[in-house]
Amino acid sequence: MPTSAAKAELQTRLTAIRARMEAACRRRGRDPSEVQLVAVTKSTTIPIASLLLDLGVDHLGESRPQELWRKAESLPRSVHWHLIGHLQRNKIERTLPLVELIHSVDSIRLLEALESACPLRRPAGIDVLLEVNCSREPNKHGFAPEAISELAGRLNSLQFVRVRGLMTMAAWQEAEACRPTFVELRQLRDRLRSQLCLPHDLVHLSMGMTNDFEVAIEEGATLIRIGTALFEGLA
Ligand SMILES: *Cc1c(COP(=O)(O)O)cnc(C)c1O
Repeated sequence: MPTSAAKAELQTRLTAIRARMEAACRRRGRDPSEVQLVAVTKSTTIPIASLLLDLGVDHLGESRPQELWRKAESLPRSVHWHLIGHLQRNKIERTLPLVELIHSVDSIRLLEALESACPLRRPAGIDVLLEVNCSREPNKHGFAPEAISELAGRLNSLQFVRVRGLMTMAAWQEAEACRPTFVELRQLRDRLRSQLCLPHDLVHLSMGMTNDFEVAIEEGATLIRIGTALFEGLA
């Protein structure tokens, strides 16, 4: 597909997604500015991702650190990068300076490793979300929902790592069936929020993908992560 056609197609898809985001906000009396669209570029190319930047979407998400490094090298420094997949500890040093938010902190070990790496690689500190395996699928990363409230003491002693909320991936199913997962994440967030002191401030719920983002917004999502609905078939 020629570039101009791809750009027009992206614009059409983006307009449709924004309209659906706004409608979901309206159903719950939410202000659309409370919900940030993160475009998940893992399945697309650098040229297509840069067309999206031209259309004004500059929050991009990648699930693999190496792929995030590769795209960050070629795309403008103004991109706000979100790491949304598992971060191995040996990839922390290179990832830390590049990302605005890590959605996928899934173990105490990773929290500790981030905390130790910050003084050299990210002295201003790093914002993270804790990933929760709300759907309790054994093949998924993330803290067990039951483990979240026990983390408060350890989290309150961190100096560099700021917890800004929780993230989850619902099981692959019909959107309405994902609602209990999103409600659970919100309740876990509310409970943990009351246990943590500044600079932790759990404003974010990262939940909702192509299949289920409207339900996630209805249940309080502040960050939705969209890949397929933007990029399918484009590259
Ligand atoms: C790939 C991915 C997404 C995007 O999912 P789509 O269904 O393509 O919108 C969102 N979140 C995570 C963690 C992903 O790995």
